[in-house]
Amino acid sequence: MRFSAAELSRNPSVVAGLQLAWQDSEPNVTGGHEEGGFIVVDDFGILSVVRWERGTQKEIIMPPHGNCLAGGKAIAASFHTHPNTGADFQQEPSLNDIRAVRDDPDLKGEFYLGEFVVSQENVYLIEPSGRVGVIGKTSAIFRGQEL
Ligand SMILES: [Zn+2]
Repeated sequence: MRFSAAELSRNPSVVAGLQLAWQDSEPNVTGGHEEGGFIVVDDFGILSVVRWERGTQKEIIMPPHGNCLAGGKAIAASFHTHPNTGADFQQEPSLNDIRAVRDDPDLKGEFYLGEFVVSQENVYLIEPSGRVGVIGKTSAIFRGQEL
């Protein structure tokens, strides 16, 4: 089954993983770098986070994920941070971000919800169709509060 955005963003393991990635990306008006990862689900429905290699200021490379699997587990979602909070930087998902999800045949697995983009203000979701929405305030999700 596919987890909803609300289920994923309230799961303690997922929230901890998103928060750690956000901290690791050194959010600031400048000088941050992108971090990201896969949220994977095992045969028992247990969610965990598999981090990617550190990215650059404006880009991060998603590692191989054939058949929407990572380390043999189904990918429930992917995520990356937008840590640069200065006015020169776009906070919401970029056109490249959207295309990367929409046009990737290996991000169409039955469990795959989409890609979260964590910014200072909001957590966005890019759906496999390319549709983008806001799933909640970053601060609220990190506090584990109801959305
Ligand atoms: Zn991005």
